[in-house]
Amino acid sequence: MTTIDTIIIGAGPAGLEAARRLANLGHTVTLLEKNSIAGGKLTLWDKLFPDFTPAEDVLTPLLNNVNHKNITTHLKTNIVTIYKKTDSLWCAVDENGNEFSAKTILIASGFDVFDARRKEEYGYGIYPNVVTSVDLEKMIADKSFPLLDTSAEKRKTVAFIQCVGSRDEKVGNHFCSRNCCICAVKQAIEVKELIANADIYCFYMDLRMFGQSYEELYRRSQQDFGVNFIRGRVSEVSPTFDKRVALKAEDTLLSRPLRLTCDMVVLMVGMEPSNGTSTLGKLVNKHDNYGYIKCADNHDGNNIVTADGLFAAGTCKRQMSVTDTTNDACTAAITIHEYLAK
Ligand code: SF4
Repeated sequence: MTTIDTIIIGAGPAGLEAARRLANLGHTVTLLEKNSIAGGKLTLWDKLFPDFTPAEDVLTPLLNNVNHKNITTHLKTNIVTIYKKTDSLWCAVDENGNEFSAKTILIASGFDVFDARRKEEYGYGIYPNVVTSVDLEKMIADKSFPLLDTSAEKRKTVAFIQCVGSRDEKVGNHFCSRNCCICAVKQAIEVKELIANADIYCFYMDLRMFGQSYEELYRRSQQDFGVNFIRGRVSEVSPTFDKRVALKAEDTLLSRPLRLTCDMVVLMVGMEPSNGTSTLGKLVNKHDNYGYIKCADNHDGNNIVTADGLFAAGTCKRQMSVTDTTNDACTAAITIHEYLAK
């Protein structure tokens, strides 16, 4: 039997893209996914920032490209351990004891969305009009946005709270999730397009518009859609007698407290390493303080976990956009190709 070249753990954007690149370079790939469908968190998204590309337009080619003679995909395969069997053979074992082996392993086990219930002061899971950015994306996608079926004369107020579960010592996540500032801008515009007379407020600590066209979209959101940005951390969300919610914050630019009654509060939840990512990082003892996979060098060979054939790509390493994730997967595939050629 011929030995497979690479096992890829995780069939999200990173795993799918790396599988395609490796297969096109002539390598054999076993692609393992714990869920019943491939696509990872991209399946939760309707449109992508900063240009409102339908997520489907990115996801469908990624999925189609792994219908390749060099790639075998196993869904519902939750890898619980990996180990080096011989000098040249890695093994991955799923929770049912099935064993997969190959010359190399690429970890592409991705991220989880921060559980907003851990920020009790915002009342997620208690007040129905407090939702997360992921919930809002679904509401917009399946046309179940709740504020539409009310009288057009009555203005609606929607507040976005940024940095939920990120840059927050209380929950132990000091890092910036990098995607939620621009995602809030995109979703604020989408809400404004749905309800023309809505008042929209985004509460931020800093605005991080570092990507291509991010700053332009941020400006457009203010100039063309009238979105209001307030620098200040929200301390509490509580219910009102008329089934709305009130938030308390401090406007840190004007140094004054602020109270705003809203019809909906959207929590911009950050990214955390997935359980699978944390488990695999611990197994090979290559993880940072948060549980992300730690590569050998942050600059040179940033996809190499260990020099004997273990690699990582995408959001199992750090917070990335979809574009950065697929680019990183491409680099990982080239790095594995070079390793296999040696
Ligand atoms: Fe906060 Fe923006 Fe960073 Fe997200 S991207 S953690 S909202 S600063």
